[in-house]
Amino acid sequence: MQRAVFLDRDGTLIVEKNYLSRPEDVEPFAGAGGALKKLADAGYALVMVTNQSGIGRGYFTMAEAERVNARVCGDFAREGARFEKIYIAPEAPDQPSRGRKPSPQFLFDAREEFALDLAESFMVGDKLIDLQCGWNAGVKKSILVRTGYGRETERENAGEISRAVVVDGLAEMADWILRSGSK
Ligand SMILES: [Mg+2]
Repeated sequence: MQRAVFLDRDGTLIVEKNYLSRPEDVEPFAGAGGALKKLADAGYALVMVTNQSGIGRGYFTMAEAERVNARVCGDFAREGARFEKIYIAPEAPDQPSRGRKPSPQFLFDAREEFALDLAESFMVGDKLIDLQCGWNAGVKKSILVRTGYGRETERENAGEISRAVVVDGLAEMADWILRSGSK
């Protein structure tokens, strides 16, 4: 079975912009692609899991969100990092949703589709719901990045965050996983 790194999009892979809907506004964090390539080279599947409530709120369409994701994928592909799959939860927080984080559903879906070992996998994000998604799925570690809302999340949820690994960004995240996950 393969190991995976599940990654939130906004504030984790790319600079958080409120309800990002235009591909030209996609801004990957410096060094992010190289960090993910190191994980891919080490055999980790890369899977993006993103809540896009702007769709459910009527701010933009699924097609627009997919164009943004295509831009993100293109930018990371140029650095040698390819995502196996992107899972989007389009619902607003008050709408019923099959996969909206902190639900672990998309991680379970990915486990089935790609024969992943979740207990040897990681979830990375900048919000508490990202970490909870990983815990709910039974990943090895949820990792908080201090980009996006990460510093705020760290400050406001000290108790729960103690279960997580906290790193400055994706480069440190990749190094941490490669140090700890080698077997
Ligand atoms: Mg985020």
